Amino acid sequence: MHVHIEKEIKGLILSLPLVHPFRTSFGEERERKFILIRARKGEEEGWGEVVVSEAPLYSEETLGSAVYVLKNYLFPLALKCHLQTHCFEAGAERFRGNPMAKSGVSLALWDLEAKKRGLPLFKIYGGGREEIPSGVSVGIQKNLDGLLKRIEGFLSQGYLRVKVKIAPGWDCEVIKEVRRSFPQIPLGADANAAYGKEEVDRLLCMDEADLLFLEQPLYPDDLYYHSLLRKRIKTPLALDESIKNPRKMEVGYLMGAYSIVNIKVGRMGGVGRVLKAVRFAQERGIPLFCGGMLESGVGRAHNLHLATLSPFVLPADLSKTERYYRRDIIPPFEFSRPGYIPVPQGPGIGVDLDYRFLEKIQIEEFT
Ligand SMILES: [Mg+2]
Repeated sequence: MHVHIEKEIKGLILSLPLVHPFRTSFGEERERKFILIRARKGEEEGWGEVVVSEAPLYSEETLGSAVYVLKNYLFPLALKCHLQTHCFEAGAERFRGNPMAKSGVSLALWDLEAKKRGLPLFKIYGGGREEIPSGVSVGIQKNLDGLLKRIEGFLSQGYLRVKVKIAPGWDCEVIKEVRRSFPQIPLGADANAAYGKEEVDRLLCMDEADLLFLEQPLYPDDLYYHSLLRKRIKTPLALDESIKNPRKMEVGYLMGAYSIVNIKVGRMGGVGRVLKAVRFAQERGIPLFCGGMLESGVGRAHNLHLATLSPFVLPADLSKTERYYRRDIIPPFEFSRPGYIPVPQGPGIGVDLDYRFLEKIQIEEFT
């Protein structure tokens, strides 16, 4: 029997094994558990991704907390709003925190809206690029030789920028050696907030390596100590974890806490907030780059559309699919020419989901 669905929103908990375990200053990930959001209205369906981890390491949110908040607060709000983006995003401001859960719903609703209008998302956002310059983020390796070999492999594929994860004990010598081996490459270092204010002197060594940026060296909620460090270090500071919403971005700018911002829609709490932050960056000439959270194809397709906006002048943390997953829930992203990933041109996120594979990797679903 065919049941006509007026409107519906649900969450699917999925698990994808990673090609390589990914190690940062937080620890190691071997598989990626995440939530996909599916919003349906009539014939159309929109997809979003909730980029939570199981443990509260990158942020306070977890898989469990997101399911709770989605079921009890965000899904009822989305239905009350008839799955409309602006109504949902305005309503979601009432709930504190939980940006990744909010963002997953926001992305699904924007995708749905774009599909109803028959337009690719980037056109609705007002983006211009047809391909996104691609950078790669390289986790902490067992030894320096292993790191250099991995970087060499990525460079031979055409990646335009390399970002190396650092932590106390894996920093100055490592970055110096990477720079010595690859004198010309655009290189960044990301500490994921692994340093304290007593350890900032150590970070000044980064200035010897001619880095494009040093990302989030200090506390995830801090702007003040970053602003002090910025006065002492020549390397441009990029902030990630600390920029939780457009207001933090404004305050960080006024305090002089950063030169560059890594934008992640999941950390910011939805498309509307990202568009606001992007406008702020545009008016002040702040360079942005689009970050990554080891997303599945749905999350990465969304990132590609957002990265078409003009303030995203630096290569994105958006790599080819094979770098993360042997098989993804959409056809793999490849380079259109070395170092560039084409932006999907179909309606919405513009990618077709592999429903059979989706079923295979699904752990649970909820409404
Ligand atoms: Mg980061």
